[in-house]
Amino acid sequence: MVRLILLGAPGAGKGTQAKLLATLRRIPHISTGDILRAAVAQQTALGLKAQSYMDQGELVPDQLVIDLIRERLIQPDAQQGWILDGFPRNVTQAIFLDELLAEIDQGYSHAVNLEVPNEVLVQRMLGRGRKDDTEEVIRRRLEVYHSQTAPLIDFYRKQQKLMSVNGDLSLDEVTAELERLV
Ligand code: ADP
Repeated sequence: MVRLILLGAPGAGKGTQAKLLATLRRIPHISTGDILRAAVAQQTALGLKAQSYMDQGELVPDQLVIDLIRERLIQPDAQQGWILDGFPRNVTQAIFLDELLAEIDQGYSHAVNLEVPNEVLVQRMLGRGRKDDTEEVIRRRLEVYHSQTAPLIDFYRKQQKLMSVNGDLSLDEVTAELERLV
């Protein structure tokens, strides 16, 4: 059973790798960013609440993503395993996730951190041209990452659940490394 938490800065390649691995292992790729972007596109209640935060590179309020993840992880397809991409993004969310997983009898063996140097991240994000990928918003997302998300590396290290993969390699090399771990 593969249950994998993928950590890494914006632009580290979490989404690309999570998608590939999920297909290979036939388990759902659960990306809070993708779910929120779909909600914004459809102008659902969730999307309307999340949009302004996303446009500015801020995290959306914890309660929104926490509710969304709870809903998602109890779906039938998530009982076969999952890859989490973009969640948790701060310590509050990580603590919630541990509590939720205990409650629904799911465990996970590892959180994998995809390591990529800062200057490579900026270049990658400028290259992909997503709506929230303007230079100013990218800069803010990186700040938010360093102040709120990077502490999760220590959080999982203390629980002896942390593994690291060099994300500054070719796409195939990174996939091969991740496959070796899961
Ligand atoms: P990236 O690919 O840059 O890492 P994502 O696609 O994961 O970005 O997320 C895009 C945006 O969605 C974030 O900048 C943030 O506003 C919001 N978001 C996604 N996941 C979370 C989360 N777990 N908590 C709060 N906000 C989130």
